[in-house]
Amino acid sequence: MSRKIAILGSTGSIGRQSLDVIAACGMEAVALTAHASTDLLEEQARRFHPRLAVMTDPVAAADLKVRLADTDVTVLSGPEGLLEAASLPEADTVITAIVGIAGLRPTLAAIRAKKRIALANKETLVCAGPLVLAEAKRWGAEIVPVDSEHSALFQCLQANRDRGEVKRLILTCSGGPFYGRTADELRCVTRAQALHNPNWSMGAKITIDSATLMNKGLEFIEAMHLYGMPPEKISILIHRESIIHSLVEYCDNAVLAQLGAPDMRLPIQYALTWPRRVPGPADPLDLWHCGSLTFGSPDESVFRCLALAKQAARIGGTAGAILNGANEAAVALFLDDRIRFLEIADRVEQAMSVVPVIPEPDLDEILEADQAARRAVG
Ligand code: NDP
Ligand code: MG
Repeated sequence: MSRKIAILGSTGSIGRQSLDVIAACGMEAVALTAHASTDLLEEQARRFHPRLAVMTDPVAAADLKVRLADTDVTVLSGPEGLLEAASLPEADTVITAIVGIAGLRPTLAAIRAKKRIALANKETLVCAGPLVLAEAKRWGAEIVPVDSEHSALFQCLQANRDRGEVKRLILTCSGGPFYGRTADELRCVTRAQALHNPNWSMGAKITIDSATLMNKGLEFIEAMHLYGMPPEKISILIHRESIIHSLVEYCDNAVLAQLGAPDMRLPIQYALTWPRRVPGPADPLDLWHCGSLTFGSPDESVFRCLALAKQAARIGGTAGAILNGANEAAVALFLDDRIRFLEIADRVEQAMSVVPVIPEPDLDEILEADQAARRAVG
């Protein structure tokens, strides 16, 4: 299938799997970006021959430029380079696979250049959902979700003619490595334990978010914006096996689900090929040998990040940016062994209680709320 793709964050977990899909489906990577992973970006550039390679770290970019001097690849650096990659005229599609609010500006640049957005970076909609969706509408840019739950909802909603027929969206959640534990048992869990996800291999930040269930909270807010549903019409269902990726319950009580092996290459590929389907590299689902599928409810009194995210969803305005900025800062402290696991929720709650919420923010107010939340975390 012919697609020309810019991958923002090509050296990360989503970025690398996107390149698997691109190679398997005969698509073209026209721009690749990373922050500082020079070795891997060089290897990817030599294999995929993009027109543009960008490193946001200027020292790494200078190094890459020397290394790729024998090729036709243009090397750019810094946030400006990232914006160039996001709006590269040759690209028809941009995969937003940068982690954190750093993905927001480049996503807006890609929207204004009328690209199809294969949206992996969930922090973008959490911080700036209404603004990003309004821009997408204004410029006629399609946003197709990459996150497996939102891709599942997107697929289950295709049978739907009128959003009023939807009773609720049901987001499935693996529960992470600490499902079933009490708060007392979580007091002393280590970084290594939190970095072990039972079903998915992902970047460090989202793996910690999966352990605290903040990931599901961010997805809750993302689903609310993407599908125009109020918080009370979105439910979280624990499903340890990650086979059912999410469900839509209709007003007649019919429930549609999307199933697949836990392999991100499938939702990545669908975001690129939609509305078509083509054979690809994702693992097939073998229901005959996958055993039982189990379901349960999340315990929000233990996994308080989920409750805080729902609270931010109900408040709206800059509450999402405050939640997200505080969480990014707190997760960085945890990954640095400077705070304990349960303190991530404490710090987020603290930031939400001190940073004032602006109801209908512009981009600058969103970025300022993010900074204020980070300062509140310390
Ligand atoms: P990774 O940490 O594996 O990769 C992040 C990528 O972004 C890397 O290429 C990294 O470059 C680059 N990057 C990091 N910081 C910056 C920055 N400040 N400016 C520019 N580039 C930067 O993350 P994941 O692939 O796991 O996740 C990416 C996004 O997708 C996240 O928002 C996550 O929530 C979302 N997502 C991920 C899923 C998964 O299965 N991994 C599933 C669903 C959503 P470098 O390598 O040089 O550091
Ligand atoms: Mg997900």
